[in-house]
Amino acid sequence: MQTPFDQISQPLDGRIVAGLAKIGTALRSNAWKGAEALGLTPTQGEILALLRARAKAGMRLSEVADALAVRQPTASDAVAALVRKELVSRGPDPADGRAIALKLTRRGRTAADRIAHWPDFLLRAVDVLAPEEQAAVHLALIKMIRTLQVRGEIPVSRLCVTCRFFRPNAHDDPDTPHHCAFVDAPFGPRHLRLDCPEHEEAPAESRDALWTDFLANESNPSKQPPRQE
Ligand code: SF4
Repeated sequence: MQTPFDQISQPLDGRIVAGLAKIGTALRSNAWKGAEALGLTPTQGEILALLRARAKAGMRLSEVADALAVRQPTASDAVAALVRKELVSRGPDPADGRAIALKLTRRGRTAADRIAHWPDFLLRAVDVLAPEEQAAVHLALIKMIRTLQVRGEIPVSRLCVTCRFFRPNAHDDPDTPHHCAFVDAPFGPRHLRLDCPEHEEAPAESRDALWTDFLANESNPSKQPPRQE
């Protein structure tokens, strides 16, 4: 049944985008405050957070620029400031002796540990969602991030759904239908990662099939896990 609101309401997709933009504003504002308290710029804070997530191998400058979706000179200036503050060190890249890897210093790790908690204020908002609402938002985020990534509109994320170790719907158990070939174990939709350190990009020729196989479960309600009461 049509109501007057159908005529006057902005389409739902537009309101979702407006809502996401508000959350983005809150994240940015919180990052500014957190960075200021540490004597950093938000970009410098993001770099420390990135290096914390890639602590094992470190990162090259070009990888930092790609991950932050900024130009290389911008990343270079921010890294140079972090080196001057003795929060980041430059050393040989173990994967290629001619390349330079950026790593956190001990002081940098302490600062990065604090920065890792910047988004925690959002947890209070996420925690008001029921478990099934959280699961729906988690899946929606994976779909949106993957779509933006395929279109080259955001930096590459280390998602399960783009990983060469991901085996979607390999098992009959509706609670843990997927399989991770890296750890050789089944897992469920609630375990799908957005930034996995073990992620390796699936070969280009299998990416679409991987995604289609993953979505097949979504259109088959009989395979969905039971609702949690
Ligand atoms: S290695 Fe990580 S990203 Fe890849 S399928 Fe396993 S858990 Fe997911």
